[in-house]
Amino acid sequence: MERIRKALVIGGIVMSMLFAGCGSSDSGSSGTLSAQESSSVSEVSAAESAVPAEESTAGTSSDEAAVTTQHPAKEASEYGKVIALTFDDGPNTTCTPMVLDLMEQYGARCSFFVIGQNINDESAEVMKRAYNMGCEINNHSKTHSYMNKMDADAIKEEIKYTSDLVEKYTGEPTKFFRPPYIAVNQTMFDSIDMPFINGKGCNDWEEKVTAEERVKKVLEQAEDGDIILLHDQPTNYQTVEALKTIIPELQKRGFELVTVSELFYAKGITPVSDSTPKIYTNSMQTGNW
Ligand SMILES: [Zn+2]
Repeated sequence: MERIRKALVIGGIVMSMLFAGCGSSDSGSSGTLSAQESSSVSEVSAAESAVPAEESTAGTSSDEAAVTTQHPAKEASEYGKVIALTFDDGPNTTCTPMVLDLMEQYGARCSFFVIGQNINDESAEVMKRAYNMGCEINNHSKTHSYMNKMDADAIKEEIKYTSDLVEKYTGEPTKFFRPPYIAVNQTMFDSIDMPFINGKGCNDWEEKVTAEERVKKVLEQAEDGDIILLHDQPTNYQTVEALKTIIPELQKRGFELVTVSELFYAKGITPVSDSTPKIYTNSMQTGNW
């Protein structure tokens, strides 16, 4: 386990650096990221996969059946190709409703990973609208801090605060967790009883990345079973613009746009939610990263 911890710490640090711009609207940091972020992440992924299989799967158990769904009643075998569009750092009353308008227009569903401290009476109304449309509300912590620097109690409080608020407004607790800055360590895996979700991104928290570049990056990476990581930060209108091409093009290619729960369901996979150090970018991935 020591070896895993070491790998996680290193991975956590590297990934923290790579994702330092995530949530830049509240952290204020962004300018130093390279345009190569996605490929760099893949390199990290490959390196992390070197953790021996018998160690990396230690602790896997089957107590994760609690992931429920609100997707249309159909069998997993009735799905074709699926992709989950996901949006971090909301909810808000500016960008989030624009994302929802597009989902409505194209008959698509998506998932939001919300920050607890962004939930107020006004933004909660938007969140409720999303939930009632069949979208999924998931957990992106309370304060969007580096949780790999927190103790277990503080980590649990971050998660509980947001899950409780989501449940208060939608009637359902959060089911998946996306770590702020994708910064993780073993204490987080031990303390958070939800599958960890990453995704393929396009640096869409950076103002200088144009809508066209976002479209190109998302479309060239898109594969069956993928999770796409985007942001509905308050003024991220370039991502809204990009979605006007991304959504219909993915549908044209035969992808059904579903929630994260539905993605795993469609693939017949129960995501790991115990202390196994695993974080998903594709629902069918075999490696831990
Ligand atoms: Zn974030």
